[in-house]
Amino acid sequence: MTSTRAQGLATRSIHGHGFKDAHGSPHMPIYDTTTFTFDTTQEVLDVVEGRKVGSLYTRYGLNPSIFALEETLAGLEGAEMAWVFCSGMAAETALFLAHGRQGIIGIGDAYGGTMELLGSQLPEIGIPTRLMLGSELDQLDDLLAEGARLVFLETPTNPTLELFDIQAIAERTHAHGAILVVDNTFASPVNQQPLALGADVVVHSATKYLGGHSDLTAGALMGSQDLLMPIWNWRKNLGSMPAPTTASLLARSLRTLVIRVRQQNASAQAIAEAMEKHSRVRRVYYPGLPDFPGHDLARQQMQGFGGMLSIEVEGGGDAATAVADRLELFALAPSLGGAESLVTQPCTTTHHGLPAEERARRGIPDGLLRLSVGLEDSADLIADLEQALAS
Ligand SMILES: *Cc1c(COP(=O)(O)O)cnc(C)c1O
Repeated sequence: MTSTRAQGLATRSIHGHGFKDAHGSPHMPIYDTTTFTFDTTQEVLDVVEGRKVGSLYTRYGLNPSIFALEETLAGLEGAEMAWVFCSGMAAETALFLAHGRQGIIGIGDAYGGTMELLGSQLPEIGIPTRLMLGSELDQLDDLLAEGARLVFLETPTNPTLELFDIQAIAERTHAHGAILVVDNTFASPVNQQPLALGADVVVHSATKYLGGHSDLTAGALMGSQDLLMPIWNWRKNLGSMPAPTTASLLARSLRTLVIRVRQQNASAQAIAEAMEKHSRVRRVYYPGLPDFPGHDLARQQMQGFGGMLSIEVEGGGDAATAVADRLELFALAPSLGGAESLVTQPCTTTHHGLPAEERARRGIPDGLLRLSVGLEDSADLIADLEQALAS
């Protein structure tokens, strides 16, 4: 590459692995290898003692398939470095253990596993955590003054697509010497670049949009070398490395990330507009709708509005359950980001464990259905929703 011009995201997702194969392979082949051999003890020591970057042992991440994937992942978020993990939760756990031990503040709604870690499991091992609603954001400075060193948020959130101002929260967080971590799973790097807005670390459940086909489980952290290096030993000894075959499958998925997400954005917008006009739909939650509360912020800090939306069905929980059960193309499953469209009713799945009052406090009505828009023709998806709502 002779040009120093910054390349676009689609180019980086295909060529960002920085790999040249002796046999001419256009991408990194799968090194399905647990250990790597050396000619001399001196060469082993050079890698073990860090004088040379080289392959050594797959669980450490020292495997060519992992190196190539991590270089691509870093490029997607404009980060100095990336670490890949065997799941999004593995990535979060290693991050919290490395950087959150003095205290973690969680803002707004988050993924169920994250809530469990922050709400009960980390406090059980002595890590202080505080969870605040988006409406309580004015308390952030007081909570930071108590000594927390890590602020964690998702934007847009699950399932109500609440948006948080990454730049403003990063400034407040940094003023107290803490770091801001953004879970960018819902938006994907195509629609949002948190590091460019001032966040310090980005978390991904690569199981969702990065993988994109509902066929792999993986996670990632992206950030500066200073913040990522202390996480390396936690990943290594928690044993949270994906298998090389999974890493390779994820690298393959990344090559189509940009076109997939742009298509999902366009379909979600079309569905949101159709649902907004539907008489059996009380409310549509989608950042791409001009009267959605987070719309102006979304226009400022996102490059696209995403493939996730929620609709509140008239008639409450039972009516929504009936609609979910009648949908044919939208499959009933609590994941997201794949080629297949999925529907889930938060009060029966992702937020089932919360008492009804707590769901109400978080603004999650029982009549809410969360849609993950896939890659089918949007006209077919709209027709499916219309038949399910009509009965
Ligand atoms: C799914 C998800 C996670 C957890 O990821 P896994 O890969 O299932 O461990 C974390 N955050 C968000 C926003 C998610 O959707």
